[in-house]
Amino acid sequence: MSKRDYYEVLGVGKDASQEEIKKAYRKLARQYHPDVNKADDAEAKFKEAKEAYDVLSDDQKKAQYDRFGHVDPNQGMGAGGFGGGADFGGFGDIFDMFFGGGGQRRNPNAPQRGNDLQYTMTIEFKEAVFGKKTEIHIPRTETCDTCHGGGARPGTKPETCGVCHGTGQQEVVQNTAFGRIVNRRVCSACQGQGQIVKDKCGTCHGTGKIKKQRTISLNIPAGVDDGAQLRVTGEGESGTRGGPSGDLYVVIRVKPHEFFEREGDDIYCEVPLTFAQAALGDEIEIPTLTEKVKLKIPAGTQTDTYFRLKGKGVPRLRGYGQGDQHVKVVVVTPTNMTEEQRDLLREFARLSGEHTHEQQQTIFERMKKAFLGE
Ligand SMILES: [Zn+2]
Ligand SMILES: [Zn+2]
Repeated sequence: MSKRDYYEVLGVGKDASQEEIKKAYRKLARQYHPDVNKADDAEAKFKEAKEAYDVLSDDQKKAQYDRFGHVDPNQGMGAGGFGGGADFGGFGDIFDMFFGGGGQRRNPNAPQRGNDLQYTMTIEFKEAVFGKKTEIHIPRTETCDTCHGGGARPGTKPETCGVCHGTGQQEVVQNTAFGRIVNRRVCSACQGQGQIVKDKCGTCHGTGKIKKQRTISLNIPAGVDDGAQLRVTGEGESGTRGGPSGDLYVVIRVKPHEFFEREGDDIYCEVPLTFAQAALGDEIEIPTLTEKVKLKIPAGTQTDTYFRLKGKGVPRLRGYGQGDQHVKVVVVTPTNMTEEQRDLLREFARLSGEHTHEQQQTIFERMKKAFLGE
């Protein structure tokens, strides 16, 4: 029987690029692979395409073929020849093509743990400080109730896969220069399930899984901080073939507060003081996370001084006690003064003039030294 022209087999022109040749072969391989196509001539067509591709994809062999056409391999073409292509060894790369490479050694029928899920949740500043009981609604994949995950319409049963006889694996024997190599690969007919569902479940369309909105109650512990991750065991996606469920990870995002800032377990805030309060001293009210407390400002307090309110911070997430609240006072220079206030301030300046002048002199001297190195 005369052989068809390789270019004709692949359906490409003589000037086809390697990319076109590869594309044409892949298309045919998918179409005629014996695992996919059960027609009588499928295997022969597959081998024919494979042989054509083996030659045309190899620059040297292609050049020979272009010059001499088909050569009977048995007549010997020197080392290499055109052998191969007609044996089962050629099936190796088609599996690679379908499954992204070999090396899948795990048993495809083994129970598989479900995927972990991640959910990001934004909470108020004070909710993070005091904790919160809440509910979240997450979409996740669950085992289909109708078919209990089997994927078959109720009352029907999946059939054992005829290709792998239920093992979910195929042995692929490759003849190589180093001898026969046996590769185990995921069965392409049943995708490793060992079973083929002919009459599919209407609820899940044969996948055995459905998307569901699930409500999970969550206990956010007091003292949780921005970026914290809470793990809820077993609330991820359900496993396959009886495998355990994955976990749910809830990532906490905390909204900023208009008055408080947080650093670990400590709280920071800023309060304004008038010039008179800072100079004469006063007792002011400071809001904390829970209540208002009184803070004594001593006379002569400078701007940017910090006061500590012990134990008024955030409860420690692990362990006992609480952080502190740090209050920074900022002295505000008065603006929009009345004429009377101005007069009083001028009088104040006059009275403290000498003293102020002296202080300034000292500062100027120091600055001069610092800048000029005197
Ligand atoms: Zn179902
Ligand atoms: Zn199978």
